[in-house]
Amino acid sequence: MRHVAVIGSGPAGYYSAEALQKAFGDEVRIDMIDRLPVPYGLIRFGVAPDHQSIKAVSRRYEKVALSGNVRFVGNVTVGRDVTVAELQGLYDAIILATGAPDDRTLDIPGSDLPGVVGSAAFVGWYNGHPEFADLEPPLDVEGAAVIGNGNVALDVARILSKTPVEFVGSDIVAHAFEALGNSSIRRIHVLGRRGPHQIAMTPKELGELGHLSDAVPSVDLADFPPEGDDALLEPGMRKSVTHLRVFASLPQDKKKVIEFDFFAMPVAIEGEGKVERLVVERTRLTEDLRSVGTGERYAIDCGLIVSCIGYQTPPIEGVPYEHGRGRFANSDGVIGEGLYAVGWARRGPTGTIGTNRPDGFEVAETIAATLGPGDSGKEGGSGLDRLLGARRVDVVTFQDWQKIEAAEAARAREGSPREKFVQIAEMLGVRSGA
Ligand code: NAP
Repeated sequence: MRHVAVIGSGPAGYYSAEALQKAFGDEVRIDMIDRLPVPYGLIRFGVAPDHQSIKAVSRRYEKVALSGNVRFVGNVTVGRDVTVAELQGLYDAIILATGAPDDRTLDIPGSDLPGVVGSAAFVGWYNGHPEFADLEPPLDVEGAAVIGNGNVALDVARILSKTPVEFVGSDIVAHAFEALGNSSIRRIHVLGRRGPHQIAMTPKELGELGHLSDAVPSVDLADFPPEGDDALLEPGMRKSVTHLRVFASLPQDKKKVIEFDFFAMPVAIEGEGKVERLVVERTRLTEDLRSVGTGERYAIDCGLIVSCIGYQTPPIEGVPYEHGRGRFANSDGVIGEGLYAVGWARRGPTGTIGTNRPDGFEVAETIAATLGPGDSGKEGGSGLDRLLGARRVDVVTFQDWQKIEAAEAARAREGSPREKFVQIAEMLGVRSGA
């Protein structure tokens, strides 16, 4: 029997578990350890609440979780409750599938002013992540700035723009639903430091902005290269850019506007004790498509700034780390003997949820080829239980999670699939029937 610990129960973790089952059959026991009492990582806390069809992939992960040789070991933080070195003593292989939950920092003067939030915090707030449930972003302001031209910036701009009716069917948490319903935001600037041909927004997600009931996107065609140049783009990008061009002809007749500021590099944030304006420098592209400042500056009045400039993986003591890229140092998923990384912890924060699947399969094959069948005499899960029991760690099982899940469904708003618990104590209380 082989014993494998997967740290993190998001998409990369579950695809790895599924791949290990395929590679080893019944000859493997897999423990999926998560710091939270609830599984699914990015699916629960990252994917937008109004994108329920994407969240449906958790049903596939549930199947894996319910198979006999996989356990969910929730509410256990590796590095605090148990170390990687201890896990290495217990398991034949450790897979780090911890994702990239921390914000890449916006390093400009004023970025520590109240009213500046990173996308991990803002997305975590509307998705009910326990760490960010109390964020209270300022929404009693007219202007907001969203920094970045990726899909997360799109999610944030869309969520800031939707009416309560447009959230029907979503699982946006009650505190965000109410706060957004009372929001005074009317102008949302989405800032890209490069141009329309350099966006990282996918067409389906970008197209959604053209169909909002109270908000309309706005672009300035002067920022665009000649239309003929669109033919040089790969098909997905071409579709995205076509959406942007269509936005230019939409009547600007709605209560809110989502304004695309291209060639706009944030250089400072100003305000008395809180954000009042974002200072931006106009940029131009170099031949190799980098952005450089032109010296021309302007200011955007705003009371909320959400920086959506990418994520990083938090380091774990004793695990080699690549600081520049914000991920574990690895070669094709191998960090060192018996230690592997998958998903964003391996590659950095790029790609869709499905991109993690081949990743997990590749690492599982490497583990199978390295270990082969057999028994190393390692204790696996029973050793972990003994260790956590002695440290009085309150472990949450998958069956416990199913109780939490049922309670969330039972208290959902009408039309919504669930009302998430947003505090860990609440989750643990439901589990123990308190
Ligand atoms: P991303 O796609 O890497 O986009 C990051 C954006 O931030 C880029 O436009 C980048 O501009 C900009 N940026 C980086 N550093 C900056 C700085 N210092 N100042 C100004 N701008 C800066 O990252 P993401 O939006 O966080 O998304 C992460 C991944 O999740 C992506 O693969 C994304 O597609 C995926 N995702 C998918 C969905 C979906 O499919 N529905 C939803 C959300 C996220 P440059 O290009 O100039 O570097």
